[in-house]
Amino acid sequence: MSRDVVAAMTAYTLELREAEIKLNQNEGPVDFPHDLKAKVLARIVERPWNIYPDFESMHLRSALAKVHGYETDSVLVGNGSNELLAAAVPTFVGPGTPVVYPKPSFALYEKLIAVAGGIALPVAVDPATGLLPLDGMLRAIERCDNAVVIVCSPNNPTGGVLPDGGVDALLATGATVLFDRAYGDFAEDTMPPLHDRLVTFSTFSKAWGLAGLRVGWLASTASTCPEIRKVKLPYSLNIVSEAVAATALEHPEVRSRNVASTISERARVFEAMEKIEGVTPFPSRSNFIAFTTRRNAKDVFNDVHARGILIRDIGAAVPNALRVSIGTPEQNNAFLEALTSCV
Ligand code: PMP
Repeated sequence: MSRDVVAAMTAYTLELREAEIKLNQNEGPVDFPHDLKAKVLARIVERPWNIYPDFESMHLRSALAKVHGYETDSVLVGNGSNELLAAAVPTFVGPGTPVVYPKPSFALYEKLIAVAGGIALPVAVDPATGLLPLDGMLRAIERCDNAVVIVCSPNNPTGGVLPDGGVDALLATGATVLFDRAYGDFAEDTMPPLHDRLVTFSTFSKAWGLAGLRVGWLASTASTCPEIRKVKLPYSLNIVSEAVAATALEHPEVRSRNVASTISERARVFEAMEKIEGVTPFPSRSNFIAFTTRRNAKDVFNDVHARGILIRDIGAAVPNALRVSIGTPEQNNAFLEALTSCV
């Protein structure tokens, strides 16, 4: 039999539906450039496949460290940032550890807290403000000893960000801060300076448009990283994903192009949504926009899907709300047209 906490959990779910236009998972809408794919594959063909990947992923870790001005020891890579979160949470959270986090946020956090035996201390997010509830989080932290904070900025699924100085304010409480910047590029954030009690998670899945490759990375100090390394599985990246990520870093224009087009399309889509009667979009600094509808959101979801566009029903997190990823201009136009006729 499974443990009680596991029996009480629901699996991480995704409504699987076919659709011509897929705007449900915050993926980049543009594929990785074909010539770069070919370049990496040519390298991989020459590399023996019967030999394990580099044990310490030195090449990719040192490339990431170089880009951000760190030592290699301050970077770990994983099979998506999911894997690194799954290693980091039990590194710091055990039975009875208080864990403060904004709610709603990325569903994985609550599962990891529950499995680790931590005490979940959610702080309510008001999506309409475009900000995460920093003051509420600080108050929650002050009420407990040795808290761990998990915060995602911009927040998934609401799109709001921590107020300026938020990470510093959280660190000043003495808490350990797990800072997920999966969508940070779209807020044009800067990496916070390293700190023993701060772990910053980043991913190649969003701004780099490499969700299919499963590459994430984290940054912390050379004393904190080895602690997480003890918990993380070895060989989490395969030789293909590692080579693609390293090649991507040699072409920062791929990321910049994706980020620039997403930011300008986000502004255009938001403005257009505001003009649709019966639709209320929430401010977003991410590559998606959450919104409520006057009409039942589930019906809107189904009607938009009937027009060939898959978005996300986030009603379990925000009442009567939906979330749409920012796509290409053509995809966004199709979405706006469908939404206009469905609300
Ligand atoms: N953090 C957040 C907030 C996310 O939304 C996601 C993906 N949806 C991830 C982490 C995981 O990303 P990946 O495992 O693809 O790096």
